[in-house]
Amino acid sequence: MEEKPLYEHDCETCVYLGRSRLKDSEIPVDLYIHVRGLQETDLLVRYSSQGPDYISNSLGTFLRFPTGIYQEVYLEILKRAIERNVSIK
Ligand SMILES: [Zn+2]
Repeated sequence: MEEKPLYEHDCETCVYLGRSRLKDSEIPVDLYIHVRGLQETDLLVRYSSQGPDYISNSLGTFLRFPTGIYQEVYLEILKRAIERNVSIK
């Protein structure tokens, strides 16, 4: 992938899925999916290199409640994960 993460992220399980922006925000973000099996996979959006500066949701929760202010960015993570054949077992 030509794009590198903008921010430090020290999880070795996470798969980087490129950059994006949150709706109504100028701040660029890094998108990740953290695969731990179908029940425990997380969708993650990092917006700075500070440890806690990210938002995340479990895939299971997002699929049950696919709404809210982060709906678009979580959908983008899922779309990119599918396009790049990230295996979610
Ligand atoms: Zn991770």
